[in-house]
Formats: sequence, C-alpha cells, structure tokens
Amino acid sequence: MSTPIPAELLSVGTELLRGEIVDTNAGYIAAQLPLLGIELQRMSTCGDNLDYLRDVLQQALGRATVVITSGGLGPTEDDLTREAIAATLGETLTIDPELEKNLRMMFSRSGREMPPHNIKQAMVIPSAKALPNPRGTAPGWWVEKNGKVIVTLPGPPREMTTMWQNEVIPRLKARFPMKPILARTVKTFFVAEATVAQLMEPFFSIDNPTLGIYAKPDGIQVRLIAHGDNAKELLDESEQKIRNLLSAYVWGKDDDTLAGLVGKWLINKNLTLATIEDMTGGLLADAITSTAESRNYYHGGLIATNDHAKISGGVPVEIIGKHGAVSAEVAEAMAVTVRTSLATDIGVSVTGITGAESKQPGLVFIGIADSHGSKTWQQQYQVGRADTRERVAIAALFRLRERLIELKLDV
Ligand code: ATP
Repeated sequence: MSTPIPAELLSVGTELLRGEIVDTNAGYIAAQLPLLGIELQRMSTCGDNLDYLRDVLQQALGRATVVITSGGLGPTEDDLTREAIAATLGETLTIDPELEKNLRMMFSRSGREMPPHNIKQAMVIPSAKALPNPRGTAPGWWVEKNGKVIVTLPGPPREMTTMWQNEVIPRLKARFPMKPILARTVKTFFVAEATVAQLMEPFFSIDNPTLGIYAKPDGIQVRLIAHGDNAKELLDESEQKIRNLLSAYVWGKDDDTLAGLVGKWLINKNLTLATIEDMTGGLLADAITSTAESRNYYHGGLIATNDHAKISGGVPVEIIGKHGAVSAEVAEAMAVTVRTSLATDIGVSVTGITGAESKQPGLVFIGIADSHGSKTWQQQYQVGRADTRERVAIAALFRLRERLIELKLDV
C-alpha cells in the first residue's frame, strides 16, 4: 500500500456561507475518497469572490496533491471557479469550439436560444480537460499541472455525483493507482451508539481494516475500510466478528434498506402487507413504497390521526374508550383491523404521542397482526417530534422483520 494521496476540498458558493443550502456535496465526496486511497486533509467553503477563491486555491495547492472544487460553474457573473483556477495557475481562459458547439446543441435540442452568458461554460485553460455533464450545461474540469490535479465539479448534486462516478473516479484510479481498497457497512437498529462503540473497542487499535461508527436515521452503522490484496478476506473476517458481537441488532449491510429487505422477504413468501399509522402520518407507507417492488406485496395504508379516523377504519370504539388511543390494545386492534379491511396477510400499526404538551411525549406502540395472531411493542423516544416520527417508521419495519424471523418466514 502506497501512502495516501493528500487532498483538499473546496465548496464554492455564497449561499453555502449564508446557510441557505447545506453542503451535501462535501459529505458525498469525503465518503468517496478513502476508497480511492486519497486522504482528505482539509475542507473549505468560499463565497463567490475571486480574490478569496484564488487565495484558498493557492493555499490548497501548496499543501495537497489533489484539490477538488464543487460549485461556481454556472453562467452568471458570480460563478467564478473557472476564473479563479485560471488566475491561480497563471493561465488564460479561451472558448473551446467543441464545447461551444455542444452547448449550443444542448440549448437548441430543448428549443431555446443559448443566452450569451452561457458561453462562459465553454471556456477552458490549456491545462484543463473538460468533463462532460450529461445532466446540465456546466462541464467540469480535470486540470493537471506541476504534479498537482484539480478536479472541478458543478454544484447541483445530481450533476456532481454523475460526473464523479462517470468521469472522476476512473481518472483518479488511473492517475493514482492503488492496491484494492474496499469498504463494508454493517447496519444495526435498536442499539445505542455508545454500546456499539464499546463492543467495537477491540477494532479501534487495528489499522487494516479501519473502523468507523455512524448514527443514521435507520440505525447505527459500522463502516470498515480495508486495503491490500487480501482486502476482501479482511472485510469478510471482520464482518463476521462484528455480526457475532452485535448479533440480534444487525439487519443488513452496504446498500440494504430495511424496506427493501423486508419487501424481498414478503415477495419470496408470497405475503401481502397493509399499514395503519397515526403519528408517523404516512412515513411508514412512504418508506415501504420507496421501492418499485412494493406494488407486489403492499396493498396500502391508512393515516388515522384521530380517534374518529381509527373508528371509521374499524377500530372498536370501546377499546379506544377503555385504553386510550395510545395503548398496546389500540395498536393491536389497528393492526388486526387494517389486515382485515385491506385483506392482507399482515397488518402493521403505529400509534403514539409526540406533542410536548402530552403526559408522556415519545410514547409509541407498534402492532403487527398476521395469521398466527398479533403482537405489540411499547417504545419510548426522547428525541423530539421530527426524529421520533422518522425513527418510529423505521422501527415498525424492524419489528416486522423481527416478526418474520420469529415466525421462521425469513429467507
Ligand atoms: P449551475 O450551472 O447550476 O449554476 P454551478 O456549478 O454554478 O451550477 P452553483 O451555482 O454553485 O453551481 O450551485 C447551483 C445549485 O447547486 C445551488 O443552488 C444548490 O442547489 C446546489 N449546490 C451547489 N453547491 C452545493 C453543495 N456544496 N452541496 C449541495 N448542493 C449544492
């Protein structure tokens, strides 16, 4: 393994500095670089100001081998990334006839005349090669000079990620060949970050693979990065150890989503699903329908926010009267009712309170009804309304997965 290539990242745009947009590009690029053997040493954000940009670029090039920029490639006068790079490298911007032709074609295909300002986007400097942008008008740049590489990407995330995947990764791999570097993520739920950290303690002193712990909406993730010819074996071995340590909490890995996994199981077992939810307001249905395959098993769901809707949906009024809407009994009745009314194999329910004014905010019940009977879970959240709603929707899917395993319906 050769030493990692030092890199810096520069996010360009005054709207970033004003907090009008969140810098998701930086997070995306930062997570990609370790897999290329490139070590991000510094991230900066700079407004649309030529002097500041030139200053930051000059400093970054003094320290790092690779400098990556995002944003500031638009057609307007305050889009200055190209100008700043040209000034920093002492080169002159000229119009590239091929880029100009492509740009004009792009506009005429959509039945528009190219506004004169857009000619900026056909400009290059001698050290730059244009990177195609199939999702927008601004080409990126790959610049090589004096042993340094500058990668210039557009700001809109869809444009940036497409260019990164199609154009930048292959070029970085060719320019800085590395032994294999692989990553694996083990995904958990219903276990605290501190507990995971404690259980992962033995891994912290190991430098291949390295281990990181991240809190995400769908649980705590453990990410491993291994390098070298035996990277895959190292990951397999470590993954197994992590699974043994975290056993019941592990639900998936890498790109798995809970909704995707559960959906696959239901399709394989030819089972159908319906939902009824109050405080999550459709977030559970939204998670389930995030995959196109959900059509094959998901009949639909009801958002039953108040008692009236629950009763109209079929929940017996006396159960609500006796136990209150946020209770195990009502969760059970909701799951049973929706299973019957939508004629599915499984019904899942969520009922809870999130308002700070209520007696026990964050109290939630999840219910599942199936051909073997029904089951409920009580949970308590202390993370505020928005996070509780998000977590509960995922928790309901996790409980469904648990139930499928319990009934030996897992595959
Ligand atoms: P365009 O040709 O669309 O003007 P650009 O390269 O000039 O592209 P900017 O003008 O800097 O990009 O940003 C355009 C939009 O892209 C922003 O309004 C914002 O929605 C999004 N964007 C820019 N930078 C980032 C970033 N770092 N993270 C997330 N989104 C960003």
